[in-house]
Amino acid sequence: MSSDWSILSLPKVELHLHIEGTLEPQMMWDLAQKHKISLPYDSVQAIQDAYQFSNLQSFLDLYYAGTNVLRDADDFYQLMWAYFLRCKEDNIVHTEIMFDPQSHTHRGVAFATIMQGFNKAIKQAKDELGISAYLIMSFLRHLSEADALNTLEEAKPYYQDITAIGLDSSELGNPPDKFTTVFKKARTAGFKCVAHAGEEGPASYIRDAIKLLNVDRIDHGVRAIDDNDLVTQLAKTNMPLTVCPLSNLKLCVVNDMTEHNILTLLEKGLRVTVNSDDPSYFGGYLNDNFSALKQALNMTDAQAIRLIKNSFTASFLPEAEKEKWLAKIDGLI
Ligand SMILES: [Zn+2]
Repeated sequence: MSSDWSILSLPKVELHLHIEGTLEPQMMWDLAQKHKISLPYDSVQAIQDAYQFSNLQSFLDLYYAGTNVLRDADDFYQLMWAYFLRCKEDNIVHTEIMFDPQSHTHRGVAFATIMQGFNKAIKQAKDELGISAYLIMSFLRHLSEADALNTLEEAKPYYQDITAIGLDSSELGNPPDKFTTVFKKARTAGFKCVAHAGEEGPASYIRDAIKLLNVDRIDHGVRAIDDNDLVTQLAKTNMPLTVCPLSNLKLCVVNDMTEHNILTLLEKGLRVTVNSDDPSYFGGYLNDNFSALKQALNMTDAQAIRLIKNSFTASFLPEAEKEKWLAKIDGLI
């Protein structure tokens, strides 16, 4: 396989995607009009212009303002469905989608409203696009563990619709050990567990997420490079890292894409994967991330294929399903 284009056409999985981060300026504008919500912007272009961030916190401030336009079940459906249409374009055949219930329930939106919209879109994606999707309910780590525990309780009627729990939002100052009880409880209830760690936070947060939260995957994890013993441990245990290159660039986790360490981690034997994080805010969906890596790091086709295969093996799909897709990819390359 020689051309970039043919790599981009391979079947793919996405493992690190916040559905609230797929809210495009046009949809933010339309929903604000629909619900008569006043935005601090006077046009779609003005919203687009506002998507300039200097760090994780300034991004999060705008992000939470954006989620305010999501009010009824149809809004959540439209948001999710628009992402599935993007999945189709990038040939994403399976996706594990994070959502932040607290950013909605705290505004008075019922848990049932969120799930009604999401479940409708997920079923439609399966039926009409052949795309499978799992949900990862993520807790906002700048809030208390008690709040996360309440959310876990509130989600009870929907446990069958949710595959995993996660931990996101402001990392610095909100270490994994703040959430040991809720992760233990979720694990006992049968959920898979993931957590953001080692994005802005130090490598020790990655160690703690594994040791204290017993996670199945680390989201981001690029700061692992600062700790040689940790890199060895991650390689030995096949711990997946869901890396998000364009996000890292936009939030200044790296100064330039040529400095990104994803291929270094790959060559050290880590199960790294490529993902888009909050694509409408960070300048690109999944294939844009692959293209950026090829352009900046001279990523080879063989490396891209390993990254794509890693996302299948690191997913929560049943083993037989993973094997089916890996064989399919082998037949295409
Ligand atoms: Zn993320």
